[in-house]
Parts: sequence; structure tokens; C-alpha cells
Amino acid sequence: MSQTNSEAKTAFVRYRGVSKSFGDNEVLKEVDFDLMPGERVAIIGPSGSGKTTMARLLMTLEEPTSGTIEVDGQHLWHKEVKGKLVKADEKHLHQVRGDIGMVFQHFNLFPHMTILRNCTEAPIKVLDLSKKEAEERAMEMLDKVGLADKAKDYPASLSGGQQQRVAIARALVMRPKVMLFDEPTSALDPETVGEVLQVIKDIAKSGEMAMMLITHEMSFARDVADRVCFFDNGTIQEQGPPSKIFSDPETDRLREFLSRFD
Ligand code: ADP
Repeated sequence: MSQTNSEAKTAFVRYRGVSKSFGDNEVLKEVDFDLMPGERVAIIGPSGSGKTTMARLLMTLEEPTSGTIEVDGQHLWHKEVKGKLVKADEKHLHQVRGDIGMVFQHFNLFPHMTILRNCTEAPIKVLDLSKKEAEERAMEMLDKVGLADKAKDYPASLSGGQQQRVAIARALVMRPKVMLFDEPTSALDPETVGEVLQVIKDIAKSGEMAMMLITHEMSFARDVADRVCFFDNGTIQEQGPPSKIFSDPETDRLREFLSRFD
């Protein structure tokens, strides 16, 4: 009889009291943040406000100074031993972050490998798939991003937008439960931005994956996100559905930030 069971859902990703400092610079300040299964959250905010650091902590590229992060009910940076949280080892980090895929500003494809090989390397090495299985998955994902015909080519022969689409396919091949996008279009020529945003929109429409999208593309955030978080000075200053955030911001800081995109 349950028409809606959203109240039963628990966060897939959960940050609690997460702080991060680089030397004296406190970049994140006791951030609490939840990402529900299948939810798409856009993270917006001025440069230097801590958005990328949020993503890097989840990818285990940076370690929090304090606080905890859980993924699917498991601590990321810690292990529970006899009811106490102790620092996790590399193996544990590796295992928990296996559900997370990331696409960076710079696509970082391996230049000496074909597009197909770029997409099969991790599933063969990390997921232990056979070459055949990995290639089947990779071709399916390259098809999804509209680049199946480029499988045998090398990255240098592709445009920046196409390379970024390959990077997206490469992340999807791992079948992550969460995808992080960190300004995936900000290093691209303006004419290829649209094709990459479209691919991300298509994935958002078709999949069940949760997404964390760090972006300066406000209309894209409005279209794709279920929720928008405005970061400023290392904290979430304001969050809500795109209709509220973009049309009826509460704080002067957000109003001022959004006015830059008018
Ligand atoms: P955003 O993504 O919102 O632009 P970042 O998370 O990249 O913000 O950066 C927030 C702050 O953290 C900036 O002041 C930046 O200089 C600093 N920072 C980020 N990474 C490092 C690092 N590895 N070492 C020192 N400072 C860093």
C-alpha cells in the first residue's frame, strides 16, 4: 500500500561535521551534507569556496581534518573497531570508494591508449573483468556518449568535448552508484560545452545514479538538479530546489553571486 516510501530512504553519501584545512586555511567548516540514492545535487558557489575539496574528500584524494563521511552506510575514512572509529587503511578506502565515479575539469585520458583501452583499463584491473566483458561494457558506454565509432582512435584526434565524453564513458564503465562532476565543461572550448552538458543530462534522465555536480553553468544546474547547494566560505549557505534557489534566494550572498550570471 505504500505509495511513497521516501521517508524510509537513508542517505547514500553522508558528510557529518566535515572540516578541512590546508595549513591555516580552513577550506571546509563543519559541513553536513547528504546525497540520497538517485538524487542529483548541483553545487554552486564562488571560486575558492570549497566545492572541489568536497568532491576530493569523497574521492579520497584529500583527507578530512575532522568529521566523518559515510558511503552506503560504511565509513569512508574510518573503520569501526570494537565500537570505536579508527583510521582506515588503503584497502578499505579503495573498497568503499569503488561505488564513486568522478569526472574532472581536465579529462586526463591516457594519450598512448586507444579510446577503448582508456575505458577498459580500470574494469580489467580493478573489477577483474575479462577483456571481452570490459570491452562490451565500454562499447555500451561509448555508444551512450555517442562515440562508439571512435573506439579505435587515440585521444589526441578527438576534440576537447569528445575527450570529456570519453572520460564520462570511462567513469560509467565502472557502474558507480554516485557520479561526481567537477566543472566538467570549464576547460572546454565554448562550442563543445553544449555536447558535454547534453550527455550529462541524458545520463541524469536515464539512470538511477546519484550525482554531485559542481558547476558554473546555472541553466544546466536548474535543468538537471533536484537540489542546489550554494557554497560560500567553506559552508553550505543556502540549499533547496532549483526553483527556490534561482528565483527566490534568501541571502544577499547568493543574490549577489547569481547576479554575476545574469
Ligand atoms: P572551489 O572548488 O570552490 O573553487 P577549492 O575547494 O578548490 O574551491 O579550494 C578552496 C580553497 O582551498 C582555496 O583557497 C584553495 O586555494 C585551497 N586549496 C585547495 N586545495 C589545496 C591544496 N592541495 N593545498 C593548499 N590549498 C588548497
